[in-house]
Amino acid sequence: MQIHVHVTLGHRTRYQHGFPTSGSLDGTRRRAAVILADVIAPLARTPAEANLYMDIKACPSCGGNGFSGTSVVMLQDGEVYERHTGTCQECGSPREFVFRMPRDPELRLGAADFGGPEPSELLDPGEWMTVADVATGRDGGPSKSDLAFAAAAVEEALKFVPADADDIPPHAFHSLIGREAYQRMPARYSRGRLSAIAAALREQAAAPYRTPPDLP
Ligand SMILES: [Zn+2]
Repeated sequence: MQIHVHVTLGHRTRYQHGFPTSGSLDGTRRRAAVILADVIAPLARTPAEANLYMDIKACPSCGGNGFSGTSVVMLQDGEVYERHTGTCQECGSPREFVFRMPRDPELRLGAADFGGPEPSELLDPGEWMTVADVATGRDGGPSKSDLAFAAAAVEEALKFVPADADDIPPHAFHSLIGREAYQRMPARYSRGRLSAIAAALREQAAAPYRTPPDLP
């Protein structure tokens, strides 16, 4: 599958697939999907992570990206969930995302605050590195906030390296985008390489004068 990556202002990342998937859910199946989503709703560690996820997950109807909607908070069996309902900005199909919310009351509201020490349940390491590449590949060169955003994304990929290993195991790459990113550059997903990339980006973000980084 070919992926065309577009970047719009405000760090919102956008993907379009060359070969969009087809099919949409009818009412009954849609309700079933919602119930299932409640049961297996992934953890959204922070608002920034949830927003990034909704930005990059392609619409099942048209394969396009961009979602606008509203959200409600729900309590069920002692867990807090956030349900986002709205429409695809490309084709207008209804879309819905349900996230489990963290139990700890710590608020992390920065644009690049993607979570705590635990790995993401939403994006896999290949998706995080794709996000980093898009942020640093902006036309005209990355801004300092792009570099900090990219560094945070690389640090998210790093969280998938097991404590007793040097490399991210292949099964951690659960998305199509992530698997393709891994297949393109498998050697990138080691503790040493990811740490070096993150450190270089942090240094660039803090430097008084910036030059576009050359990611290894
Ligand atoms: Zn759509």
